[in-house]
Amino acid sequence: MSGETARLNAFPVFMRVEGRRVAIVGGGEEALAKARLMAQSSAQIVIVAEAPEAALVEWASANGVAVVREAYEAGHLHGAALVFAATGDEASDGAVVADARARSIPVNAVDRPELCDFFTPALVNRAPVAVAIGTEGAGPILAQMLRAAIDRMLPPSLGRLAALAAAYRDRVETSVPKGAARRRFWKSFFAGAASRAIARGDEASARNAAEGLLSSDGVETGHIALVGAGPGAEDLLTLRAQRLLMEADVIVHDALVPEAVVAMGRRDAERIHAGKRKGCHSKTQAEISELLVELGRAGKRVVRLKSGDPLVFGRAGEEMSALRDAGISYEIVPGITAAFAAAADFELPLTLRGIASSMVFTTGHDLKGRALPDWAKLAISGATVAVYMGRSTAAEVAGRLQDAGLSPDTAVAVVENASLGNRRLAHGTLADLPALSERDDMTGPVLTIIGDAVAGANFDRSEPLAARKRAAARV
Ligand code: SAH
Repeated sequence: MSGETARLNAFPVFMRVEGRRVAIVGGGEEALAKARLMAQSSAQIVIVAEAPEAALVEWASANGVAVVREAYEAGHLHGAALVFAATGDEASDGAVVADARARSIPVNAVDRPELCDFFTPALVNRAPVAVAIGTEGAGPILAQMLRAAIDRMLPPSLGRLAALAAAYRDRVETSVPKGAARRRFWKSFFAGAASRAIARGDEASARNAAEGLLSSDGVETGHIALVGAGPGAEDLLTLRAQRLLMEADVIVHDALVPEAVVAMGRRDAERIHAGKRKGCHSKTQAEISELLVELGRAGKRVVRLKSGDPLVFGRAGEEMSALRDAGISYEIVPGITAAFAAAADFELPLTLRGIASSMVFTTGHDLKGRALPDWAKLAISGATVAVYMGRSTAAEVAGRLQDAGLSPDTAVAVVENASLGNRRLAHGTLADLPALSERDDMTGPVLTIIGDAVAGANFDRSEPLAARKRAAARV
């Protein structure tokens, strides 16, 4: 029914267990699972088992947990805050449940929901922050799936951030007025410089940032994250990139970043399209750098989304130096560069024992000059060469490398739209490579890999690079 929430038959609460006894009766797998779960708390765990299994004994001694090797009797429950009946035997579990209830101690019987006073949650632990997921026993697998999804969303440093917040609570309460100002303080604290410093493990800077917020009435300064969006597939984004996208006020993205990836950002984030596919109007690099500086000055949290890795042919250098000069805080989030995605699509080992042990990332644009660039020597000595933006320079790359002594038979792999559903793979030799610049059917971004390691690739889904040319010549 719309607008009406179904009622829970089991209501979640957080129970204080610090220093209190939790009794687990049973010596097998079930007991160990509950002991592991409870060991995420500061409860004092006591396992009661006359003949505990080896795995349980080993875990208990490694974790400083007591195992009482006696036949169970009701007295073992004395003083417990919670009891688990985990003997694996229905009658024994039933007896433990009856004893616990007689002492008014809440009890859980493993895999016997009808005997349970409480259920244990699937737990995302960022102590002191916890997310507990319950399904009233209906779907443990569902709970685990939700747990994994939530776990990915929450930064590992969340607990440390919450602990720092707790340390500031009293001061904030006395010095920041209740209401809008205090809300603004905490929002800035949890999403701003303090949180970023904690994520880096820099507690001193986090405290500085918090002090700054206390004296500035919670006005946050801007921050730019130069984020690698990966080669295009949404699920090749890093968890950190995804988190930042969800927190961003503004997303500034390149043309090569697919809409589906940009759409993973916060729904009300402003989106700015910065550039550049051949022929379309777009901002110059100087304009983009200036834009980032302005957004930072305006206090925005900006994700500057670049395809692949931001530090590989991403012009991050110019943007970083503009931000540094303007004194605006920034960070880099690495991404999967196109060469890695292309190699994965081709099942192509970029390094191959005894054949290729180094790798070159290049554009081939430096081949247009007269001097042979350094990397040509590396190619001849066996390095695997990844050529970015290499369609228009394909003929030069092939010609100059052959002039320099690389065999025309050297294997070449080309991937258009690496990682995406519409990817296309082509292969051939260095002698075939000039055909790439004539392949006007390949309109997506193209990455070329040259070297003997290419021979280790899987060519099942690949077409010959120069096929069209040969077919045309035959006519
Ligand atoms: N920073 C990016 C590279 C930007 S330069 C990275 O690390 O991948 C743009 C070039 O990257 C394109 O001309 C093309 O050569 C390559 N490229 C980017 N995405 C690609 C993809 N999905 N498939 C093939 N090549 C890609």
